[in-house]
Amino acid sequence: MSYHVDEHGYYGEFGGAFIPEMLYPNTEEIRMNYRQILEDPSFQKEFRQLLKDYVGRPTPLYHAARLSEKYNTKIYLKREDLCHTGAHKVNNTIGQILLAKRLGKKRIIAETGAGQHGVATATVCALMGMPCVVYMGEVDIARQAPNVARMKMLGAEVRPAMSGSRTLKDATNEAIRDWINNPVDTHYIIGSVVGPHPYPDMVARFQSVISEEIKTQLEEKEGKRLPDYVVACVGGGSNAAGAYYHFLDREEVGIIAVEAAGKGIDSGESAATSALGKVGIIHGSKTLLMQTADGQITEPYSISAGLDYPGVGPLHAHLFRSGRGEFISITDEAAMQAGLEVSKLEGIIPAIETSHAFAIFKQRAFRPEDIVVVNLSGRGDKDLQTYIEFFNL
Ligand SMILES: *Cc1c(COP(=O)(O)O)cnc(C)c1O
Repeated sequence: MSYHVDEHGYYGEFGGAFIPEMLYPNTEEIRMNYRQILEDPSFQKEFRQLLKDYVGRPTPLYHAARLSEKYNTKIYLKREDLCHTGAHKVNNTIGQILLAKRLGKKRIIAETGAGQHGVATATVCALMGMPCVVYMGEVDIARQAPNVARMKMLGAEVRPAMSGSRTLKDATNEAIRDWINNPVDTHYIIGSVVGPHPYPDMVARFQSVISEEIKTQLEEKEGKRLPDYVVACVGGGSNAAGAYYHFLDREEVGIIAVEAAGKGIDSGESAATSALGKVGIIHGSKTLLMQTADGQITEPYSISAGLDYPGVGPLHAHLFRSGRGEFISITDEAAMQAGLEVSKLEGIIPAIETSHAFAIFKQRAFRPEDIVVVNLSGRGDKDLQTYIEFFNL
């Protein structure tokens, strides 16, 4: 049994490409070409070189001694927080802009919620000298001023989405509309393992450098390539997909996915997609998403902007349904306390998204001999104001 995508673009019953007819040529062009482009040695050479010299890879695999002592198990941190721009997202945007160039595209569009993916996209557009339009809900533009400023400094145009709730899903609709109108010259950089096939697989492949590095780094440190567990937070699921990728079909490696329970799973204010989600279609893919009885997408909530998403990528829906992945949901309160604890124990201030992953150690015991790798998806600088308000710092 394989947990990777099948030749039809499905993970078990999830995935596929449920898109308007007018988008078909755009996604089809990518589907027909992406495997060949990614496997091309000249693509790999350029991708690897940029990951090394521009992003700062390989990121360290750090043995967190004090955290390990506290929870009586062996914890390693995969330091994606040390990537250029402060999180894993740039691994994907570098890969996609190189793909766009090889497809002859001249212009990049993206959607962003909190602005992190917008910044990662604007960054690589500056690097490649390509024009960049980022769609962002008007409400999010007001909430995320520093990231809007970053995108502007990097030369991107930030276009407000004014319809609906004026948040991420409305920005996505605007980006799709733009893509339909500009099918020949424009590439749409999606920021997580979501969207129509082949995006989830393509993004997972770009992020898979994370688990590739974990294997060789563990070999150096522990004399074995497989950890007992890999833990990651899940918004759309890209940092998790990258951290699991090379372990998916090795069932002796436990896969733990951590979702945001917000104010509590039953509070009506959460983003715990696996616990609450039902099968439906979002952003062109069949997956689990939070919806009302009549199929309207529910507005998600989490203190962490990066986990505030009503769905989850089709790979993760399959990991949940098949039982391959263990899914844990963590409240705002538990995540914030875990973020503070890691800061004090390890001298590392994690992004609030990642703090959710750290909170599992209070809920779930591991054996002393277990090797547990936590993917430290991003740094907490962007979240300082939220930490300040929460803890009255
Ligand atoms: C965006 C983000 C996430 C959530 O996105 P995934 O696609 O689920 O990885 C998690 N952590 C950080 C630091 C982020 O910026």
